[in-house]
Amino acid sequence: MKEHANYIAGEWIGSDFRPNINPSDISDTIGLYSRATEVEIDRAIEAASAAQPAWAALPAASRANVLDKAGSIILERSAELGELLAREEGKTRREAVGEVLRAGQTFRYYANQVMQSMGEHYPSSRPGVSIDVQRRPVGVVGVITPWNYPIAIPTWKVAPALAYGNSVVLKPADLVPGSAWELASILHNAGVPAGVFNLVIGSGRLIGARIVESSLVNAITFTGSGAVGNHIAGEAIRNGNKRFQLEMGGKNPLLVLDDADIDVAVQSALDGSFFGTGQRCTASSRLIVQSGVHDEFVEKLTAAASALVVGHALDESTNIGPVVSEDQLHQDLDYIAIGKAEGAELVAGGQTVTRRTEGFFLEPTLFIGGANDMRINREEIFGPVSCVIRVDDYEEGLALANDTEYGLSTGIITQSLARAHDFRTRAQAGIIAVNQPTAVTELHVPFGGMKSSSHGPREQGPDSRDFFTTVSTAYTVTGY
Ligand code: NAP
Ligand code: MG
Repeated sequence: MKEHANYIAGEWIGSDFRPNINPSDISDTIGLYSRATEVEIDRAIEAASAAQPAWAALPAASRANVLDKAGSIILERSAELGELLAREEGKTRREAVGEVLRAGQTFRYYANQVMQSMGEHYPSSRPGVSIDVQRRPVGVVGVITPWNYPIAIPTWKVAPALAYGNSVVLKPADLVPGSAWELASILHNAGVPAGVFNLVIGSGRLIGARIVESSLVNAITFTGSGAVGNHIAGEAIRNGNKRFQLEMGGKNPLLVLDDADIDVAVQSALDGSFFGTGQRCTASSRLIVQSGVHDEFVEKLTAAASALVVGHALDESTNIGPVVSEDQLHQDLDYIAIGKAEGAELVAGGQTVTRRTEGFFLEPTLFIGGANDMRINREEIFGPVSCVIRVDDYEEGLALANDTEYGLSTGIITQSLARAHDFRTRAQAGIIAVNQPTAVTELHVPFGGMKSSSHGPREQGPDSRDFFTTVSTAYTVTGY
């Protein structure tokens, strides 16, 4: 079985290897992946620190070439990389290939951004002085990513980091090292100079923590759970006041009004709640439905959820792949038990299912009769579990939608332009979806949330520049 090492200073280095298991079929081992040692992590960080100044000093067009080439390789290999991603994470082949294409396009987008303005020139209030606001790289960026988007999330952090002249140490989620390893190999083939990009594989507690603590790392960009994000925030401040950016959980609502197109409402709820096995930070798990359409919505959504085919991620007929791991499956089942105990009524799913292969298969699960203060409506479950909450009117629905510690995405289904406009103004979330699923992102516009969902500048689009560059204002006396 192939051994996949860490990528450090342009070389493949590793000694201790562990299997990467397919959640659709636990007898399928995807490959052996390294566990980086402390010495290896430190080498990666030192290499990144040593290589960064020359990378930043390259003509911007040279950096753009590397990013563009990486994007092209990803796009050319999308079928194969998609299959690997589906095998290691469990999302369907269609979803996985879509994620890979997004990653390729993201590299191309930042290849272009490299050539955009990196500052502004101002006149001065004094004679003979010019003022230049310059965008400069932050330095060495530690990138720590979750398992649910094994190639898209590393890419939307790594591509802008490199574009703006930083070097990178990537620590991917331990459950999905395969896609990150391919990303390293692609960057290598695209000609990234040794040390500019480094990959260290292994546990967050060891590797992630060591990156956050290192005095040579200038910034941390993290996506994952709130608990880990908050811990990283403290450590980043304690260890040299590092810059940090955190993208964390969500408990995203979808508000369905009486005037909704009911088929759009059902399809948006189905997609938002269950596609990607519900393992999306932008998934909708609170379906807040006005009384006039409540019964019809519940009846149609229950039928649609029950008709979804759960199975092996690579089977043609599969709509919903497995849960990513046994631990996550237990978490989902615990929350289903909690929902029942809290008095919500289970109308679809709730059970694990057996398939031709042994995997972590869970039925799409729908509760009704929920109250917004139930734990299943306050805590992120991160599985194919959703709950309907009935409300009498728009104002009550909006208040409940906003009544959460999170603020990543939110949605409304309505045919009223006035309501849609009001919602866009008053909904407390970084992403607002009108007449579509809450899980919507395009790569050229800002992504991120409010409240406990995010900290720091937005990701993606041109806003990435705010995190991956630092501003210095140069005052130059030009005339004596
Ligand atoms: P997680 O457990 O917080 O892990 C995220 C990453 O942090 C992993 O690489 C993890 O390593 C690492 N880590 C763990 N402990 C660490 C420590 N002490 N120091 C440094 N790094 C550490 O999250 P997850 O379970 O992978 O992903 C699910 C979560 O991600 C959900 O809450 C979801 O909402 C969130 N998410 C948010 C967004 C967004 O953009 N807002 C997008 C996707 C996912 P290990 O792999 O070893 O655990
Ligand atoms: Mg985890």
